[in-house]
Amino acid sequence: PKAEKVDARIEGAKQIAIGIKKEVDFAGWYTNVLIKADMIDYYSVSGCYILKPWSFTIWEAIQEWFNARIKEMDVENAYFPMFVSQKVLEREKDHIAGFAPEVAWVTRAGSSELEEPVAIRPTSETVMYPYYAKWIQSYRDLPLKLNQWNSVVRWEFKNPQPFLRTREFLWQEGHTAHARKEEADVEVRQILDLYRRVYEELLAVPVIPGDSILTTVEGFIPTSGRGIQGATSHCLGQNFSKMFNIVVEDPEKPGGSEDSKLFVWQNSWGLSTRTIGVMVMVHGDNQGLVLPPRVASIQVVIIPCGLTVKLAQDERKAVLDACQDAATVLKGIGVRAKADLRDVYTPGWKFADWEQKGVPLRLEIGPADLKRKQTVSVRRDNGVKANIALSDLTVAIPSLLQTIQSDMYIRANDVFQSRLKTVTEWDDLVPTLDAKCVAVIPWCEVESCEDDIKERSGRSPSAGAKSLAIPFDQERWGPLKEGTRCPACQRPSKRWTMFGRSY
Ligand code: AMP
Repeated sequence: PKAEKVDARIEGAKQIAIGIKKEVDFAGWYTNVLIKADMIDYYSVSGCYILKPWSFTIWEAIQEWFNARIKEMDVENAYFPMFVSQKVLEREKDHIAGFAPEVAWVTRAGSSELEEPVAIRPTSETVMYPYYAKWIQSYRDLPLKLNQWNSVVRWEFKNPQPFLRTREFLWQEGHTAHARKEEADVEVRQILDLYRRVYEELLAVPVIPGDSILTTVEGFIPTSGRGIQGATSHCLGQNFSKMFNIVVEDPEKPGGSEDSKLFVWQNSWGLSTRTIGVMVMVHGDNQGLVLPPRVASIQVVIIPCGLTVKLAQDERKAVLDACQDAATVLKGIGVRAKADLRDVYTPGWKFADWEQKGVPLRLEIGPADLKRKQTVSVRRDNGVKANIALSDLTVAIPSLLQTIQSDMYIRANDVFQSRLKTVTEWDDLVPTLDAKCVAVIPWCEVESCEDDIKERSGRSPSAGAKSLAIPFDQERWGPLKEGTRCPACQRPSKRWTMFGRSY
């Protein structure tokens, strides 16, 4: 009878398994996981997706954590309109040039054409800064630190992928104005460190903070061997303050002189729902989603087992009650637990169902377990089983969840680190990329060299390598030896730089 029970569980698992292997068809696997885990649904407008509760709760967990941290930094939340007039949008020419092809416009209301079309924000610098100019009248109005949780629209034509690249996406955008550059620079790094912690501490995903065109935390998707920009925090300098005239009298300069005008130093920083996609890609497996406990909306699912027809009614009830009690006890100490008492499904079917939804820990309770006053725990991340005394739940479960969280990070980090390869000879670059690794090269930091590397390392259908980030932590690759040259162009090297294929 034991063997039969096991078979029934496997049978159940087969019925609803992911269907596409991660290593075989990564893109197909990814969308299957998202659908089967009930994270998203497709929508009738291409490039847009519905975020269902199973994924939106992850975003809420990120919001809650990040909000608390930025409020400690005296950042306040606000909300600005989603529309922006053409005149205002185009005020900072270089800024808009980068976005122009992706801006969506409203040109009609009902059946009448608008006299002046309005744009939907692709980001809110130009929406907000005219008001920064109005609100910042004196040195005493600084710093101004506002953040908004909103959605932006970028009508991208690159292949859309849920979470990673969508036409409308949720994010937070922080916009701050400071009197001094040094103060702005400190904040850029503080925010970047919060982004690193969102990835590493909440999502158990390793990232490398570094310089790029913007400062960034760079993530990595091992299955495709490609880098992905995780979030950006950026000092805008005085470009916008000069354009939008955000200016005060410098208290340290003599009044009235041209020199006494202080154009504020501005930062902008953003983290989007892309975070969720990166987490899915890094941790998911062929059974489906694997959620890090800290962001899982259900951390522990408790499933009654061994309820055969021969079982006496009172024994059956005792098992069901024990499951419900365990859930209540765990909820009482803040663990997000659920007893799955649905009687139309077999235990095997439920196991597979919660596995594909990525619930970090499953507890099984059957009549035999109950006699021994214990439960069998099964970890989603590595399948390891252990018996836990029912009297010990409030101590054992929180500690097991913590272990799962840190093991997931350690495993993902080991993979990322093993895929960072130091490359000092041009001939090693393409083989490194083809082996799904990131090349860390002693780069010259010349822009035209990057274009050249991109072109020379491209192998249709794979794109060439671009500079992903210049890690802040240069130490790990050691000091550059005197006379080191860029492997691509032979100019003198400046810093160790990550080059790779990317999203
Ligand atoms: P940006 O304003 O371009 O620096 O974007 C800030 C962050 O938002 C980036 O680091 C990405 O992680 C994310 N992001 C940019 N474009 C998209 C998109 N189309 N879909 C989802 N996330 C995005």
